[in-house]
Amino acid sequence: MQAGLATVLVWGLGCVADVPRPITGRCLCGGVTYSVDAEPVWQGVCYCANCQRQTATAFSVIVGVPSKTLTVQGSTLASFQTASEGYQSTTERRFCSACGSPIFSTIESMPGVAFLKAGTIDDASWFEPTVEIWTRSAQPWAPHFENTMPYERTPG
Ligand SMILES: [Zn+2]
Ligand SMILES: [Zn+2]
Repeated sequence: MQAGLATVLVWGLGCVADVPRPITGRCLCGGVTYSVDAEPVWQGVCYCANCQRQTATAFSVIVGVPSKTLTVQGSTLASFQTASEGYQSTTERRFCSACGSPIFSTIESMPGVAFLKAGTIDDASWFEPTVEIWTRSAQPWAPHFENTMPYERTPG
């Protein structure tokens, strides 16, 4: 039994180590590319009304990385600011103005972290959400993820 548990633990750690270094990604047209030389600090999904509109679907799939490790290139990188419901904090949403892909966001109240839209990552097969945020605005038909901690709003 103990050997089995140890195997599972090692396998679990192996999954974490499967995150490529650097993490690279791009928008749909390729005009904007990025690279991150760090481990993710946050993996989750956001059901807020603004993410629903920006992604045109039920939630954002997000990977938080230390913003100082994120390098972004491309002249079509544009930005749009939104205010979170019920919070004073604003979210700066970066996207490609040529193809419309959302790429990453920064949140005023969470300095130092850039939140990548996981769909733009070249290889996001390792993604494993641990948190669901803004579940209070989730659509009744939205899917949810196992082994995640739900928050009605943004934690903190
Ligand atoms: Zn683009
Ligand atoms: Zn959101």
